[in-house]
Amino acid sequence: MLDRNNELNAFDRDHFFHPSTHMGTHARGESPTRIIKTGHGATIVDRDGKESLDAFAGLYCVNVGYGRTEIAEAISKQAHELAYYHAYVGHGSEASIRLAKMIIDRAPDHMSRVYFGLSGSDANETNIKLVWYYNNVLGRPEKKKIISRWRGYHGSGVMTGSLTGLHLFHNAFDLPRAPILHTEAPYYYRRPNMDQSEEEFSSWCAEKLEEMILAEGPDTVAAFIGEPMLGTGGIVPPPAGYWQKIQAVLEKYDVLLIADEVVSGFGRLGSMFGSDHYGLKPDLITIAKGLTSAYAPLSGSIVSERMWKTLVEGSDALGAIGHGWTYSAHPLCAAAGVANLELIDKLDLIENVKTVGTRFRNGLSDALAGHAHVGDVRGEGLLAAVEFVKDKDDRVFFEAEDKVGPRIAAALAERGVIGRAMPQGDILGFAPPFCLTEDEADLVVARTKDAVASVLG
Ligand code: PMP
Repeated sequence: MLDRNNELNAFDRDHFFHPSTHMGTHARGESPTRIIKTGHGATIVDRDGKESLDAFAGLYCVNVGYGRTEIAEAISKQAHELAYYHAYVGHGSEASIRLAKMIIDRAPDHMSRVYFGLSGSDANETNIKLVWYYNNVLGRPEKKKIISRWRGYHGSGVMTGSLTGLHLFHNAFDLPRAPILHTEAPYYYRRPNMDQSEEEFSSWCAEKLEEMILAEGPDTVAAFIGEPMLGTGGIVPPPAGYWQKIQAVLEKYDVLLIADEVVSGFGRLGSMFGSDHYGLKPDLITIAKGLTSAYAPLSGSIVSERMWKTLVEGSDALGAIGHGWTYSAHPLCAAAGVANLELIDKLDLIENVKTVGTRFRNGLSDALAGHAHVGDVRGEGLLAAVEFVKDKDDRVFFEAEDKVGPRIAAALAERGVIGRAMPQGDILGFAPPFCLTEDEADLVVARTKDAVASVLG
């Protein structure tokens, strides 16, 4: 007779098709199933009672931390009152309307409307469609191409997987699809010319973008999408002057800017939005994760007033917009969003991101920057990464089959701390919940140092 854990493990191996998991290894039982049972603050607890400090907040989303009863109660209250009604043809719930207002109050000043979805991927699908709709309304049917960046991450759908600039998400899926193009990543550590200053490298990135727009024809390029700070592609802050130079090119050729703030939105960089942090003036902002701290799935496309006016003109000519999800503005998720944003304010969590974030990043740097195989320690707010290299002087990668990044993440997990081996390169990422304490930050640093030493000496 199987005990309950083993029974669940067997069900899992036989029936659960996990995302982003090696199918064969998992189905053959060669990689473990870890069943997470509960959590509190920055800590998760599995079914065996083992606690781990989750220094990646799930998938950088449980920003207010685990076990927040205020959010659980708000969802429960909403479920008792009204679990669902759709948002089509002008319908809404009290929670979804209140949440829209709270988002716009927090967003950069020129933003005015929010369209709700369920995931970061579907919000970016919405953004692509809004860009196309916008140019159709303006009578520019050729202006449809979207430029993204190598190492950008924007989702896993057909179009959004194409926007993503990571090979893992393209290989074997016949992606990227037209009309998506990729330009240079603002990855200063891996700049092509080591003599470049940050400003010079930013100028080079802007020149490459301009060359691409001119080669394609400015009348065919509709929008540029980027995370204010690269996330899944390696957790890389933009080099000095990058966004100013990129935006100058976009303005010159009348190309819209989509800021993908799925990770940076609602405080992760120490400002409410990454756009405020780095001086972006986007036409569209993508939000998800931190909007509800993942207590329920909810995303949004925030639309600028300027773009909104054109969309409205379109609807006067074209009729109701033919774009909607059954679960847009789902009341349970909206109730979670309201409670989550209230909690971030009430506990002054963005201030904690700044103070504990600075301590954490300085701690990582002090502990690891001198290591013979640590090439770079970087980050902003509570988002940080350590990049490992075989040869520090020439920034040479380890062989992929050495799996240095995953081995260090595994060694860290054995020491009770969860970081994330980022998908491309040997990069260990951190994105702890905003409630991380100073003691917890110090503990993550100490355990990371120990885990690195256990793998790389
Ligand atoms: N954009 C960014 C910047 C992301 O980091 C992610 C998810 N990691 C997405 C979009 C896609 O979000 P989802 O997984 O909710 O579809």
